[in-house]
Amino acid sequence: MAIRIGICGAGGRMGRNLIAATLEHAELELAAALERPGSSLLGVDAGELAGQGRMDLTVTDDVEAALAGVDVLIDFTLPEATVANAAACAGAGVPMVIGTTGLDDEHKRQLREAATRIPVVHAANFSVGVNLTLRLLATAARALGDDFDVEVIEAHHRHKIDAPSGTALRMGEVLAHSLGRNLDECAIYGREGRTGERDSKTIGFETIRGGDVVGDHTVMFLGLGERMEITHRASSRMTFARGATRSAVWVRQQPPGIYDMEDVLGLRG
Ligand code: NAD
Repeated sequence: MAIRIGICGAGGRMGRNLIAATLEHAELELAAALERPGSSLLGVDAGELAGQGRMDLTVTDDVEAALAGVDVLIDFTLPEATVANAAACAGAGVPMVIGTTGLDDEHKRQLREAATRIPVVHAANFSVGVNLTLRLLATAARALGDDFDVEVIEAHHRHKIDAPSGTALRMGEVLAHSLGRNLDECAIYGREGRTGERDSKTIGFETIRGGDVVGDHTVMFLGLGERMEITHRASSRMTFARGATRSAVWVRQQPPGIYDMEDVLGLRG
């Protein structure tokens, strides 16, 4: 029997790709498409919204009714909406796949609380390539150590509302962990004015916003006489959407807890 999927944020850039990825997946069935209360998209046909043809499923804002008919909820919205949905999913016993970025410590606490009752995959980036890149970064950082300065540069489209990207921050966490540092203490977010010389124990972040860039990330390891760069470029949101639908199949088999895409891909080693 098909796994029934609900998509929250169905009208968003990712939501429309998630509808398409669900419809193309042999094991999945689109059972609910949710948007925010007051959205002009309420009542619109979900298939048509994603350019997939009519499917007689309308966009709704009724989370409770939707959860009664889905096996997994995929949520790519805003932090406030995501944590409210996590509480609702915990109450209804519905596993979640979450792509929302920009969560603060309180949001993360609320997510962990929900995850004591349901399995949740929360990843800043659902692409296979980025998750493999995280592994490469850990290897490079361990090999190069403190002799190399580390800088993370990312570029995204003009509509993105959080910075640095969740993926850049995840890269920072992996780098800091591999170098025996604490990211909260060593991160430098942008530079301006008389900054003084670079402190070798810091990790720098630079953010570029503009146009329709889907997501570029480069980590530079800068040494004396040589420089190494590891770059990932996403060219289609379908790569994230397919990672999320793959996670939806996986998460149903898991006990309660918080997982990420490295768990889904079996990269945890
Ligand atoms: P978007 O603004 O295009 O879409 C978000 C949608 O969520 C909008 O349609 C909005 O109306 C809807 N929404 C807001 N509040 C809601 C609520 N309470 N209930 C239901 N729907 C609600 O944004 P986007 O580009 O699709 O990105 C969404 C999120 O996903 C962002 O946090 C972004 O950083 C993240 N993202 C993650 C990945 C990943 O691989 N993890 C990839 C791309 C984007």
